[in-house]
Amino acid sequence: MPEIPFIREHDFQYGQIEVLAPGIRRLTARNPSAFTYYGTGTYIIGTGTVAVIDPGPDDPAHLNALIKGLEGEGISHILVTHCHLDHSPGARLLQAACDAPTYAFGPHGAASEHRDAGTEEGVDVDFDPDVRLVHGQRFSVGALEVECIHTPGHTSNHMCFALPASGDVFSGDHVMGWSTSVIIPPDGDMADYLNSLQLMLDRKDNRYWPTHGPPIKTPADYVAALISHRHQRMDDILKLLAETPMQIPQMVGPLYPGLDPRLIGGARLSILASLRYLIANGEIEASDGMPMQCTYRRVT
Ligand SMILES: [Zn+2]
Repeated sequence: MPEIPFIREHDFQYGQIEVLAPGIRRLTARNPSAFTYYGTGTYIIGTGTVAVIDPGPDDPAHLNALIKGLEGEGISHILVTHCHLDHSPGARLLQAACDAPTYAFGPHGAASEHRDAGTEEGVDVDFDPDVRLVHGQRFSVGALEVECIHTPGHTSNHMCFALPASGDVFSGDHVMGWSTSVIIPPDGDMADYLNSLQLMLDRKDNRYWPTHGPPIKTPADYVAALISHRHQRMDDILKLLAETPMQIPQMVGPLYPGLDPRLIGGARLSILASLRYLIANGEIEASDGMPMQCTYRRVT
């Protein structure tokens, strides 16, 4: 398996707005978990007139610290990368305090049939942005120009936000340094995810700021490693099923040796996402039944 060069060392402080670069600040929410790493990093871009990216969970302490830290400045935009519960619910609390519109690609794309099947990252089904953004759209936050990059895969409505002048990108949960992204079908889609990674690779930006964890300073190498990792994982599934047809729960052990038991549900869903890709490509077929109960075999 080619190694992903994970970046796990994370220099941050809870409860403090940290200046990361000119015009880029971050406040980290206290919601650490196996899915959020140290918690949700809420970014503030601009000075004087600012946009907030991913206000985070429904956590009044986090939002109060953010609002207090921005006293004397004006919030013009509340941007949301996608509507998982650790990213978007804080928008309602922030909006109550500042009145800025919310901006995102759209509400959640599909009701997830696997919402409770092993991921804590629930969906904020109530989120519906005031303004829907499209891929390639640009707008100004004070003197700063922001570009929208639609990156479906982790969710169908996932959007990254770029600052073309500096080559900084707020990559949400699409590209994270500490971990791979969870792809939960049907809203999460492996083919979309791989296309969205290729899109990022082709852009040649300088630096990514994921919502969770540290920045990625050599994004091209990192994204290339993510793409080859997923292809390798699918090759491993094809090899495994070449020996014997299997159900998803049986595949977790051989594909993820030594996995943290808390992540088994996520691993199953990730395998399902890969299988759906391989089924669409005509390489695998599934017996009748629910995705976790049916048997997958190689098409020969
Ligand atoms: Zn997410």
